[in-house]
Formats: sequence, structure tokens, C-alpha cells
Amino acid sequence: MPLLSNPEDVIGRRFDFIIAGGGTAGLVLANRLSENPDVSVIVLEAGNAHVDDPIILSPTGWVPQLFNSEYEWGLQSTPQPHSLDQRLFEFRSGKGLGGSSSINCLVYLKPHRADIDAFEKLGNPGWNWENYQKYSKKAESVHAPVPPVRQFRPTYNHDDVGHDGPLPVSFCPIASGVEYPLQKGLSELGIETISTGFGGETAGTYKALASLHPVKMTRTDSANAYLFPVIDRPNLQVLTGALVTKVVTSGDEATGLTADAVEFEHGGKFYQVLCAKDVILSAGAIKSPQILELSGIGDRSILEPLGIETKLDLPTIGTNTQDHFTCTGPAYELRDGNDIITGELIADPDFRGNLKDPYKEIEGPLPLVMSGYAFFPLHKAAANAQELIDKISAKINDEASPYSAGLREVYHVQLELLKDEDVPDVEIMVVPFSVIPMGPAGRAYVNVPPVLSRPFSRGTVHINSADPLAPPVIDPHIFEEDIDMEIITAGFKVSRAAAQFSPYKDIIAREVKPGPDVVTDDQIKEHIKSHVGTVWHMVGSCSMLPRDKGGVVDAKLKVYGTNNIRVVDLSILPILVSTHPQAGDIIKADHM
Ligand SMILES: Cc1cc2nc3c(=O)[nH]c(=O)nc-3n(C[C@H](O)[C@H](O)[C@H](O)COP(=O)(O)OP(=O)(O)OC[C@H]3O[C@@H](n4cnc5c(N)ncnc54)[C@H](O)[C@@H]3O)c2cc1C
Repeated sequence: MPLLSNPEDVIGRRFDFIIAGGGTAGLVLANRLSENPDVSVIVLEAGNAHVDDPIILSPTGWVPQLFNSEYEWGLQSTPQPHSLDQRLFEFRSGKGLGGSSSINCLVYLKPHRADIDAFEKLGNPGWNWENYQKYSKKAESVHAPVPPVRQFRPTYNHDDVGHDGPLPVSFCPIASGVEYPLQKGLSELGIETISTGFGGETAGTYKALASLHPVKMTRTDSANAYLFPVIDRPNLQVLTGALVTKVVTSGDEATGLTADAVEFEHGGKFYQVLCAKDVILSAGAIKSPQILELSGIGDRSILEPLGIETKLDLPTIGTNTQDHFTCTGPAYELRDGNDIITGELIADPDFRGNLKDPYKEIEGPLPLVMSGYAFFPLHKAAANAQELIDKISAKINDEASPYSAGLREVYHVQLELLKDEDVPDVEIMVVPFSVIPMGPAGRAYVNVPPVLSRPFSRGTVHINSADPLAPPVIDPHIFEEDIDMEIITAGFKVSRAAAQFSPYKDIIAREVKPGPDVVTDDQIKEHIKSHVGTVWHMVGSCSMLPRDKGGVVDAKLKVYGTNNIRVVDLSILPILVSTHPQAGDIIKADHM
């Protein structure tokens, strides 16, 4: 049983590093920083510990976790305009040790090299693909695939992944049976199966890795990989049920703010721990900006009406948010007799038992994890790609457009990615799980939706109350920029077009969403608007950019205007990619 702290062990004590949020990034950092026995580290996590929790360990546990406040914060957006009928959108985010890595869909992919190089181009020295790969390989322990039952084989280069890091990663041994036919259909459209997907060249189709233990077939997350193996270090304390409410600072804008302590709520009471070196926020892209604003660091015009004294006027906090938007469909009812495996089938213990035969070495029941992915540039998806690019370029360059100078510069780098015919702008994923019913029970369904890789619309997340227990206000500005709808529509059409080729078309009984009546671009756009959602990859709310370009943190992840407050979670990404970087060593290097 891991050694979790009690409040009385830590209240009023001084720690070198205080980590606010024991999620994906926070626990990597806790591990790395506490490697040095001469520094003291405390993790304050709002949720519970979930040690050996079977729901978390189960690779398909994420479906019930989505609707359970024990594991998930249950946040919602503001009503969304832009033809979205003022609908509210669910924003999922993990709660408890491991954070979102304990509730996510286990999909383990790496971005295109240009996605990461863009960070360096935006003024962040060292944030490039070579370094990303170095840290990524240090983290992962990728295991060779066990022989696959089906034709959907992993294609990857052994040297593109790490083999002895703390995080076990593997290829799920089974698949739904739709992935390989989809690959063949996409190949007819010029989207080929590749082996470079984990080496920075991602345009094509390939089997995704999963954060799945190769033998036990359990989820691997940051708690099991990074925290529990080292939790008995005497210099590391972990307090769960501890909601960080603010960073207590001294100094002013002229000298820079210094974090002296962190306040947290535990069991209805408020306490402090004192800071000797750094306060590190890793509460995720929705909650890290909330903690900063509650601490008086943020946009004066937001803080003062709430009665919060502005210690540091940094209006960029909580802006520049981006997310991966998707929709339902094209979705199909599948024909009988094709050995299709869906989420519903795999939940049946008898069915799973029968699958085990070829896998004597595997200990746990065989899971189904989403593993069929395709990534492609707009140029491949839309005949009018150049026209669309010219239109958004003209808008960005037009002085009359409502963009700040900083955002305009970020957009220029984002435009380079859009113009590059090798860099993906949209993704297709095979989803053999029905989170909402697709049709009459007892039939097999699969959803093969597009996902917008890099939206131009920018949202916000801010507090609207001084109460730290009140949820922040999320306004994602979905489809505010027309180009986003154009790109996702192009992706939708590619997904649908692939289904006209054998063997893909032979396994499909009928399209259930949106169905054969939806044909024209306008009809498809209407369908997307009424079925849009996010896959919960929010980034950008504390962007790592030069301050005059809209930055909140510098390239060493320190909040501008502060001497010792950092943000290390996904909120630092200035432009969205499909994965997360490991930040621990940067902070460590600064101090050791
Ligand atoms: C349902 C779902 C499915 C996903 N599927 C995938 C996938 O398959 N593949 C993929 O690559 N990505 C996926 N993602 C995204 C990915 O998991 C996250 O983007 C990533 O894990 C975020 O890491 P983080 O460190 O930024 O934040 P998190 O891991 O969310 O950590 C934040 C932590 O801070 C804690 N916290 C928040 N506020 C406070 C506070 N005030 N005080 C103390 N603690 C606090 C939270 O409880 C949480 O533990 C998914 C996300 C979700 C929600």
C-alpha cells in the first residue's frame, strides 16, 4: 500500500517544490524532482488516490468513468453560438492521482515533428522534435507486439520508440476488425499505411500504441508508472483530497512575485504548506489558470469585479485555449459474420474468454482499445485546399481582423503547418465503442469520425467567482473560425469516401449517422454542427510564448512576472498537437 500523507504530516511545513495537481504531468515531475534526496517535494491532489482501483486498471474503464464524479470533474462549457444553438458541451478531465491519464482512452500517439518544431519557432529555445523524442523515449517502454489475431498489424520502426522507460506501452493484441478494411479504403484515396508514425512523420494510417501493460493488459498511467514505485522516498509527500485554492505571494510587479506558500482545502478546512523553491502548477489546462486567477494573477478586469486583488496583471492567462473537435459519424451498422469486435461484445466475459486461445502469455482478459488511426493534410482531403488556405491567410493578414499582434504571429506559424503538404490537419479514428446508442441493441456499430487536428478558433477559461470550489467558465468558441468547419468537413468526406471500396464496403450493412439523406456539403456541415463534441485534449490556457505574443510562461515554464511559479501541464502548449511533452527535466536542470 503506498504511503500517502495525512494533513497533519504536512500542514505548515516548508517544501522545496510544491506540485499542485497529481495528474499526468505532475506525477512525472514529482518522480524526477524527488530523485535528488536533498530536495523535498509535496504533491497536493484534489481527488482521491485510487490505488489498485479495478475501474482505472481496466482498459475499458473509461466509459463508466466519464459519468462518475469520483474520477472526473464533470465540467461544462458556456452556451455556444456559431450555429450551435447555444448548446453546452461536456469538458471531461481526470480527478485523482494519475489525473486524465487514469481515465483516458489509452491511445498513445506522437505528434508530427513540425508540430513540436513550431514551439521553437514561436520563441521557445530547445522545444523541438529532437528533444521531444529524447524525452518521449526516456518515458516509454514499448513492447514488441504479440502476434495479432487479425490483419491489422502494427507498422513502426523499432528505433522510433523507447524500450526501457518507466511507462509500459504496447500494441493492443486485438482490434475491432474495421481498422484494416479502413486502411485499404484510405489507400485507394492516396492515404497509405506508414511505418514512421512514431518517428515524426505521421501522415498516413497506422496502428496506435496504447498505455496498456503488455502482459497484465491493465491501463498504465502516471500514478502507476511514476508515483507508486517511488512513493516511499522520504523526501516525497503526497496528500490527496487537497484542493489547491491559491498561491500565496509576496513582492510586486516590479520585483516579480514570489510564491511563499500554497493554500489548500482539505475536509472542509483551509491550510497552507510553505515554499522554499518553486510552486509548480499541474492541475490541467482547465484548472491551472483557475488557481492563478484565484491567486490574483490574471486579467485585472476579470479579477477586480470579483473582489480579488490583482497581484500581477497578466491578461493572457486563460486565453488561447484549443481543443480537438470531432463529431458522430460517419457511423455504420456492420454486417454479421465478419468477426467484428465492439465495446459491447468485449464487455462480455464469455466472449473475452474465448478470445484468449492464441495468447497464452497474457495474464489479464483481452481488452479492446481504439487503435485505428489515419492522419492527413488538408491538401489530401479537399480539392479546394489552396482556396481555403488563401482565405484564412488573407483574414489573418488583414489589419481589420480582430486578432492581437501576438495571436497573429502564432497564426503565421500555424499557417505554415496548414500549408505544408506533409503535415496532417485532420485525423480519422475508428471508435468501436458506443458511448451513445447508434441504433437498435444487439447489432454491431462503429463510428469513424474526423478529428480537427489544429483549430484556428481560440477559446477561454476563466473564473467568475472568488469561491475556489466554483467551477471555472469554459468558452471554447467552437467553430468561430470558418476554416475549422471546412477542415473537419473535408475529413468527414474522406472517411465516408473510404467506405466505397472493398473490403471496407463489404463489412458495412448501412450508414446510420448521418445516413444516406445527408449528401451535400451544406447538409454535412449541418450534421457536424448538431453532432460536434470534443475529445478532451484542451491546451493553451497558460501558453508558452514570448510575453508580447500572448505568453503566460517562458520556455522554462516560469509564469511571467513571477520568480518561482511554473506551469507544467498541457496548458502550456501554444498550438495544439496530439500528445503531451515531459517537462520535468527542464525544471530539474534549473535547480540541480
Ligand atoms: C476522457 C478522456 C479521454 C482521453 N483520451 C486520450 C487518449 O486516448 N490519448 C491521449 O493521448 N490523450 C487522451 N486524453 C487527453 C489526455 O489524457 C490529457 O490531455 C492529459 O492527460 C492531461 O494531462 P495534464 O497533466 O495536463 O492534466 P491532468 O492529467 O488532467 O492532471 C490534472 C490533475 O490536477 C488535479 N487538480 C485539478 N485542480 C486541482 C486543484 N485545484 N488542486 C489540486 N489538484 C487539482 C486533477 O484532479 C488532476 O489529477 C483524454 C482525456 C480525457 C479527459
